[in-house]
Amino acid sequence: MILPDYHIHTPFCGHASGDMKEYVAAARKLGMPEMGFADHLPLFHIDDRTLAMSHEDLPRYVDRVQALREANPGFTIRLGIEADYIARHLEDVARDLALYPFDYVYGSVHFIGDWGIDQSRFKFEFERRDIDEVYQIYFEHVMAAARTGLFDVMTHLDVVKKYGHRPAADISNLYHEVGETLSKSDVAIELNSSGLRKPVAEIYPGLELLKIMRSHGVPITFGSDAHKPSQVGKDFDKLRGHARAAGYEDYVGFQGRERVPRPL
Ligand SMILES: [Zn+2]
Ligand SMILES: [Zn+2]
Repeated sequence: MILPDYHIHTPFCGHASGDMKEYVAAARKLGMPEMGFADHLPLFHIDDRTLAMSHEDLPRYVDRVQALREANPGFTIRLGIEADYIARHLEDVARDLALYPFDYVYGSVHFIGDWGIDQSRFKFEFERRDIDEVYQIYFEHVMAAARTGLFDVMTHLDVVKKYGHRPAADISNLYHEVGETLSKSDVAIELNSSGLRKPVAEIYPGLELLKIMRSHGVPITFGSDAHKPSQVGKDFDKLRGHARAAGYEDYVGFQGRERVPRPL
């Protein structure tokens, strides 16, 4: 059985191509039992139409997902969203999340202060900083995000490695702290295949980190982070192998923000 892809973007975010219909068609063609859109929730701290959907587009996005559900009876399409963790805008995010019947909310840390860590135009910042410290701050943000209770799943858990920068020190203690925090906060993580298409050429999260998550009983979902229809379900065979290598025997789906456990 092909695993459901829960991380699919749409042109609303300003940096994805193809019509939403084409993403659904791609998932159906692969024989996927279920899929979920999780486009970028509007940002509150910057106004950049190339990073996330606009505030006016949020209801349109929800309407389009609902219309696609009606057009595809017998095929499950989940309404997800990917929301940024920005400490000073938690109430704004909470307000938006309460407005619509989301099946799940993905939380991401794309920003350390105003630094967009996964944007190639700001990649130079890694050269100016101490990488161990960047990892420490990044994962502190991840833990703070998990504790807010706003997010069901933390996505691309170690996206900080995107451009290949690695900590010099052994940070397994920090990883255990992350696992413990996610577990206590009832937050799952996503195995995300987009890292394979990035300079680091690795699944998010890496095996060492994933094994630690497993040891803390943190559940998993799967996502391609597709920004074009041809990326739907991409490298899902590798994701399944990665999950098994870390000792996982099941994963979770979501409906109405409730976990639905399933065998892997
Ligand atoms: Zn995106
Ligand atoms: Zn993301």
